[in-house]
Amino acid sequence: MPALRKLDIPSHAKVNRAIRGKKYVVPDCKVYSEFDAGNGKTERLPVSGPCKQAPYNADGSVNTNFRSKWWETCTHGAPAQEELDALGYTGPAAYYDKGYRTRYVDEFEKQADGSLIVTGRQEVRQLVIMPRIEQVSASKRNNSGSGPAAAELFGAKKPEEFGIAPFCEFWDCFSQDITKYANGYFCSEGHSKLVFADEEFIVLAIGDGDGARKRRREQLREMTVGR
Ligand SMILES: [Zn+2]
Ligand SMILES: [Zn+2]
Repeated sequence: MPALRKLDIPSHAKVNRAIRGKKYVVPDCKVYSEFDAGNGKTERLPVSGPCKQAPYNADGSVNTNFRSKWWETCTHGAPAQEELDALGYTGPAAYYDKGYRTRYVDEFEKQADGSLIVTGRQEVRQLVIMPRIEQVSASKRNNSGSGPAAAELFGAKKPEEFGIAPFCEFWDCFSQDITKYANGYFCSEGHSKLVFADEEFIVLAIGDGDGARKRRREQLREMTVGR
């Protein structure tokens, strides 16, 4: 099996949001609608596509257009299969976002003295494809931790299924350098303990002052994560 990939997603983990968040790759179906942006320009904006539908209509009748597991076959707004293949991405296309980045490539000409002179500049469009990563609250305190099961029912899949290394289970922490602790996979003992405190209703000292911070550190040091 090839090594799991690491993505470079910035973390914004906060002590006061110490809940368990499972990271998933999620599908989307979108089509592009053209809008008149004024000043004679048209803009293309993504809107919800036809595949993402509820199994029932608003009046309770069965929606005959509903396709279960639409994410396996939907290609609306998704990268083309050959684009995914070229970048070595696996899994259904509906799980990927596609965009373009403009780059500039300098053209050089070698001089008689061996130096290089820039003679021109070429604009190139780079295709950027990223798996759509979202986090779902998995705290025992939110709907008894049923969030992930519900998300999976609507197509959310584990990063490993796409060759992506798993993430820390701390909310808003996207570190992929994780270790197994008694209560899950985390990037650090601190994140393991903060989630433990949240789920076991252990009240940590609050506040940003030095006193509160010091007290919190002591509380975390004294805490043993059981289970
Ligand atoms: Zn679709
Ligand atoms: Zn973490």
